[in-house]
Amino acid sequence: MSLKTKILLLLSSVILGVATIVATYSILHDKDQYEARMSDIYQSVRLNYEETLHDIVRFYVSRADANMKTEGVLNAFRSKNHDALYPLIAPRWEVMRQENPMLTIMQFHNADGTSLLRMHQPEVYGDPIASQRSMVAHIHREHKTVYGFEEGRQGLAFRILTPVIEDGVYLGAVEFGIEASYITDKINRYTGYQSFFMIQENNVGVLSGISNFLQIGDMLAINVSSKLLPLIESYKNQHQILENSVINYANQTYAMKAIIVNNYLNQPIGAVIFVQAVADFSNHVFQMIIATALITLVLIFILWMIVSRVYDTVAEKMSFQEAYNQTILDAIPSPVIVTDGHQLIAANKTFLAYFHYTNVAAFKREHQCVCEYFEEGDTEEYLLPMVNDQRWSEYISDHPYVHHKAKITIEGKTTIFEVKLSVLRFHQEKRYVVIFTDISSIQARSMTDPLTGVANRLHFTMVFQHTINMALRDQKTLGVIFFDIDHFKEVNDLYGHLIGDEALKHIAALVKQRLRKSDIIARWGGEEFIILLPDSSLEETLSVAEILRKTIELENFERVGRITCSFGVAALKNDESSEELLTRLDKLLYKAKESGRNRVVY
Ligand code: GH3
Ligand code: MG
Ligand code: MG
Repeated sequence: MSLKTKILLLLSSVILGVATIVATYSILHDKDQYEARMSDIYQSVRLNYEETLHDIVRFYVSRADANMKTEGVLNAFRSKNHDALYPLIAPRWEVMRQENPMLTIMQFHNADGTSLLRMHQPEVYGDPIASQRSMVAHIHREHKTVYGFEEGRQGLAFRILTPVIEDGVYLGAVEFGIEASYITDKINRYTGYQSFFMIQENNVGVLSGISNFLQIGDMLAINVSSKLLPLIESYKNQHQILENSVINYANQTYAMKAIIVNNYLNQPIGAVIFVQAVADFSNHVFQMIIATALITLVLIFILWMIVSRVYDTVAEKMSFQEAYNQTILDAIPSPVIVTDGHQLIAANKTFLAYFHYTNVAAFKREHQCVCEYFEEGDTEEYLLPMVNDQRWSEYISDHPYVHHKAKITIEGKTTIFEVKLSVLRFHQEKRYVVIFTDISSIQARSMTDPLTGVANRLHFTMVFQHTINMALRDQKTLGVIFFDIDHFKEVNDLYGHLIGDEALKHIAALVKQRLRKSDIIARWGGEEFIILLPDSSLEETLSVAEILRKTIELENFERVGRITCSFGVAALKNDESSEELLTRLDKLLYKAKESGRNRVVY
């Protein structure tokens, strides 16, 4: 998986996560609100219902009062004069009917329980109505306004009975009856609900006047609008129709609110049920999820586009930067590498060509470190993978003012490099840029004596200290021979400097032939030479010095003939410094000269 894909997937899942959290939170929040709204709606419907009932009661109590105050009415009522009362009330009855066509009952009751006058049915009167209707009997007993739902001329009626009292004497009552649907119609208009009554069968009167009804057990659903009829039908057998509930019908959710309907004794006889189509919450959740998903998708898509665009631009810039860096590295004619001190990070063309690799990865497959190539040299300047317990790169960075060299042999060809390093630090990261400059030829020139071809004094000084260090480190012996040509001044004087030079060359070559590869000979100065013999005891060194002395003595030098040399020989003592050893050798050589020359003194 590419880095770009990873970044995009990560960002997408972050967006998805955030969207899920937001959606979940808002769904939970909405659910609370939804439930709160549902209960608010219920409260408002209930209040509306109660207020409507009270308004009606207040209104018809005042109407009853006004009627009784009409000229002659009280007289007619007191004297139970049906024929006198009717014409007095008739015009008022007309007005009230116009006011409210649902007012279907107006009746005057005598205190003795008989009916005095039915405005809605004036021809029927005098019947003992109180013995049939307990509500009437109730007001005759109690002499107080009473109201409640009762069976009516058209199914169910809301009846208000007001007492007529004159000078503390109860004369009877005035009754008004309104069709129950008047109340629900009013509330429906106000709240937008559709409603119907669910009343126990025996509390419902004449059914012929009812537009729509349904028998549900011992209950009758009455005044059910044709729109609701199929809904109620489908829930006919479910008891919870009486409870506040949410029901689903034909892909629509309905909130049902039941408000208990009481008779005049405050006994429940059923309920009025308000039904309203509401937005289904699960539907809301579904829509919410769809909307969130869509927004998320669009966001992810936009983000995808932006990130992709930005990533490509950055990647392009970075690849340019990389190419730019590589070009700079490649422009340097010496091998150059970039490392973090452990891993090779980059290398230039010259480096790869020198080690015969095509790219950095190929080099790294076979080598942990370029330092695997470092070889031991003859001075302290040569780097090894570890120098004084430090990694080579760290060691260079800690010792910036010292010459560092690396000796590397590739396919039999040894090259001496001067190693220079720059450090780039970034927070905890370190980058070493290491340049390897080939100094093989300069090294050869600056370190060799041009006349004799052996090491010069400068080179010797460095080699000498290193060799002493090695010997002490490895607890090995180190033999040293210091020799000087006898009476060389005379050679020069007799045959001239050129012949003298030739003799010097000849002796150097002669000595070199007799030495081991590990021995080091250097021209100390003039016609004095010094030889280091690592891993050689004083005895071994003495015998080498003796061989050299004899070899020179027996050699026939051109023009000059015989030449001899005097030798001082010593072996390094454990606690001896290079200066002390040299002083000792100088003294020994002086002794050899003193005691007659052409000899070895130790
Ligand atoms: P001895 O060492 O036996 O005491 O006598 P000596 O004559 O060799 O004396 P000394 O070592 O003091 O003299 C060194 C001489 O070596 C002086 C100089 O003429 C000669 N010499 C030094 N370097 C060179 C050189 O590079 N070429 C030649 N031709 N002669 C040199
Ligand atoms: Mg000398
Ligand atoms: Mg001499």
